[in-house]
Amino acid sequence: MASYDVIVIGAGPGGYVAAIRCAQLGLKTACVEGRGSLGGTCLNVGCIPSKAMLHASHMLHEAETNFAKMGLKGKAPSVDFKQMLAYKDETIESNTKGIEFLFKKNKIDWLKGWGSIPEKGKVKVGDETHEAKNIIIASGSEPASIPGVEIDEKVVVSSTGALELPKVPKKLVVIGAGVIGLELGSVYRRLGSEVTVIEYLDVVTPTMDQEVQKQFQRLLKKQGMEFVMGAAVQSVEATKTKAKVTYKTKKDDTEETVDADVVLVATGRKPYTDGLGLKELGVEMTDRGQIKTDKTWKTSVDGIYAIGDAITGPMLAHKAEDEGMAAAEVIAGKHGHVNYGIIPSVIYTDPEVAAVGKTEQELKDEGVSYKAGKFQFMANGRAKANLATDGFVKILADKETDRILGAHIMGPSAGDLIHEICVAMEFGASAEDLAMTCHAHPTYSEAVREAALACGDGPIHS
Ligand code: NAD
Repeated sequence: MASYDVIVIGAGPGGYVAAIRCAQLGLKTACVEGRGSLGGTCLNVGCIPSKAMLHASHMLHEAETNFAKMGLKGKAPSVDFKQMLAYKDETIESNTKGIEFLFKKNKIDWLKGWGSIPEKGKVKVGDETHEAKNIIIASGSEPASIPGVEIDEKVVVSSTGALELPKVPKKLVVIGAGVIGLELGSVYRRLGSEVTVIEYLDVVTPTMDQEVQKQFQRLLKKQGMEFVMGAAVQSVEATKTKAKVTYKTKKDDTEETVDADVVLVATGRKPYTDGLGLKELGVEMTDRGQIKTDKTWKTSVDGIYAIGDAITGPMLAHKAEDEGMAAAEVIAGKHGHVNYGIIPSVIYTDPEVAAVGKTEQELKDEGVSYKAGKFQFMANGRAKANLATDGFVKILADKETDRILGAHIMGPSAGDLIHEICVAMEFGASAEDLAMTCHAHPTYSEAVREAALACGDGPIHS
């Protein structure tokens, strides 16, 4: 039996970051992980592999649509799907091996196996029980299906199966127009699938700004994705090679059926806490199955902390990472802090979509008087040169104080551009502060500055 200051359960972005920070702060640390490689859902079957597939399929799309215009003539590349999956697997491996290296560098023991907490201060992995002054649960989440739909990871797949398909399906039906549905739907559309997205609500990506929702859906339609909105999927009947998806429209309650070669279930994720022994320990849970924590990520049981997808809040890798660092700091006697008001969210489609802070709808509902400064990428020099003019930057600022309250970007590199606004918001900046900051020309980031200018006397280029 080994004894540790901290044992982290789970080596996803929340857990491995917590373990590294604990070690950096001088705590003797171990991390339990039962998967054959470190990095959790994000590195193995989520964010990282999907980005490899998005990148590869984006390159194909560029070759098919823009190369000739730029004077790059020749046959458009054909898809060797097996090789694309191998490239994706290499990307996963180089990332997960990187975490192994960081564990060694920081002298973190990887306890291989699935962990449970038989009693306070103890973590059991396989036949061995280890002592831990503190335990951080970072057990993450798993795909949540809907009644009447059983995931077999072959014909009816979650995001995990969608990244391992044997071939590009002819007809892909996606249930749910959230982040996963639209990202993976985009991948297969670009690779040649006919993609139909069935969504219960009347809008895509429910938490996004309404203006973005509308324009984003319009662009995805232009790219060939089909949408059935306001329709609740009732059931999926699958054989070994095909499926029938039945949905009911909310408007007139009629039932329709569509055929598919593959059905992607992207209707959300749920916390994964099976087998930890939380009930027996008396760890309080929310009625949505999340672990309850206080502001310092402590659970209702002394010495046990929880972070990431297993607790409340958005299921985002970077939110989990921030909580991991903060919980480590709390355990080390420092002041861990996460600013939940400034957590960016990004959808890695083309164009990318990124947001931080409040939406216009939220500000209206809260009765805040605000101004919106907007700038289209159509008028940005770099975007024109790169044939990437779809989308806009919108900055929302307080009408009186000019303080930035939120930002919404749809366009090239939106997922990177959003961060200058995050930093500005962390410093309590006004739109004018952003507008007065010199931005290099020609860059996409000038569109951010122009949107900030639009909150004041007006942008230069429109
Ligand atoms: P989501 O919650 O983003 O979207 C699920 C969608 O499914 C919703 O729009 C919902 O209305 C719809 N839906 C639910 N039941 C339905 C039914 N019966 N018929 C039709 N539509 C139905 O969930 P997701 O896309 O599965 O993603 C899961 C989690 O993973 C999210 O928290 C997401 O933030 C996270 N994630 C983030 C990223 C990223 O940041 N880029 C990428 C992937 C996943």
